[in-house]
Amino acid sequence: MKPSKLTISIKNGLIDSINQSEVTEIIIDGASNRFVSAYAIPGIVDAHAHIIGLGENLNTIRLEKAKSKDELIQLVKEIDVKDGWITGRGWNEESWGNKDLHRLDLDAISSERPIFLVRVDGHAAWVNSKALELSEINKYTANPNGGTIQIDAEGNPTGLLIDNAIELVRDNIPKASNELIKKYVLDACYECLRNGITEVHDMDVHLDHLKVYKELDNDNLLPIRLVQYIRGFDGEYKRLQSHPYSGNNLQIIGLKFYADGALGSRGALMIDKYNDADTYGLELISTDELYEQASEGCDNGWDIAVHAIGDKANRNVLDVYQRLRSDGYENILRIEHSQLVNPDDIKRFSDLNVFASVQPIHCTSDKNMAIKRLGENYNFAYPWKTLHKTGAKLIAGSDFPIESHNPFFGIDAFVNRRAINEEITWQKEETLSLEDALNSYCYTPHLATGNSNSGSLELGKRADITIIDNELRQSNTIRNTKVIATITNGKLTKHL
Ligand SMILES: [Zn+2]
Repeated sequence: MKPSKLTISIKNGLIDSINQSEVTEIIIDGASNRFVSAYAIPGIVDAHAHIIGLGENLNTIRLEKAKSKDELIQLVKEIDVKDGWITGRGWNEESWGNKDLHRLDLDAISSERPIFLVRVDGHAAWVNSKALELSEINKYTANPNGGTIQIDAEGNPTGLLIDNAIELVRDNIPKASNELIKKYVLDACYECLRNGITEVHDMDVHLDHLKVYKELDNDNLLPIRLVQYIRGFDGEYKRLQSHPYSGNNLQIIGLKFYADGALGSRGALMIDKYNDADTYGLELISTDELYEQASEGCDNGWDIAVHAIGDKANRNVLDVYQRLRSDGYENILRIEHSQLVNPDDIKRFSDLNVFASVQPIHCTSDKNMAIKRLGENYNFAYPWKTLHKTGAKLIAGSDFPIESHNPFFGIDAFVNRRAINEEITWQKEETLSLEDALNSYCYTPHLATGNSNSGSLELGKRADITIIDNELRQSNTIRNTKVIATITNGKLTKHL
């Protein structure tokens, strides 16, 4: 697969003819659209992302740009909400010098209104005293399963909440109305379309939001295809009457579980202790419990996706998947992130037919933090090429809104494995060829959803096509690629 100049004729949403040509031309039901200096690739898939999160993001202030605690406090002060909760997302103390975060910092902004700020990776929250008070969290509150309420020397909560402890506060924030959720979904879908994305695997979908998605789909308002994995970990999905669902542009096919937390907050579950703390990380579910939940899900026709970042978490999930396979289950099984994989476990992805769902940009943006957490000699991080060579099916996503939804940043990370301001490729042996990178974005994700009529530009296939201004031959230009037009289901949208 490589970007090509093609003349493609589309009828009834399917590719009716396709030829190499001098100028890229898309003919839809007889009407021609010519694109000079443009190249066609199959529609790009983001195989792990959060649609409502992106929609919220597009509609709220982001904290990523804060380069210090003072800058962050200034940004939060500017959040234009008249009353109620002040919420924000995206802080990252790794990029600041001063790392001691305390509720008192936020009390200085407001002691009357609760403040709830989620870390960039979603695995920690920083709250003020009012938020703790409303959530009835004090020095006597026990840590929830799989979560930590950080305390000071006197045992008082500092305002930092890790993993499941975040929910103790989040549960008290008033829910967005269905109208607002609809706006989030549509804003996010159109933003994807502008970035050349024709399909998103939407993770951790909340049961309460399915109605909104289905309404939008019934009214044919979804401009891209959404394939959803709903929250499995709280068992709430059992309230659903219907099982896997397939509509116009919406499929609800899987359950999503969590085996561990994230590396940044030292929640990733490791075989060996962290290099920079006396911990192995967090086991969010035991293998027996995961097996029970996953096999019950499989029995009801769901595919299974489990978040695993640490090498021990990946091993645990593979152990569970091995049990499922030996029970005879043929459901799609995926590991979300597959970030740290022990060499002894690499081959098991292909042996057990487990999809490795990876987010290449996590590697380039987290590399320095990963080296601190794991130590210089840790060599099992983001093992893309090793997984690929052993026959694992690699599917790629961004995990937006945690990272940018621009897929060319991810393709760049796969091929170049270095951050924008870096000259040197990190662990060159784990980079992918452009062809393999594109496959992981455009082709392989469809194998994980059973949509065999998508993923390549061939006669009779669904006309999901991304038109770009770059042949991608020069690897240092990948991240500057512009999307000229996106065609989904035979419908063309021009962006430039
Ligand atoms: Zn995610």
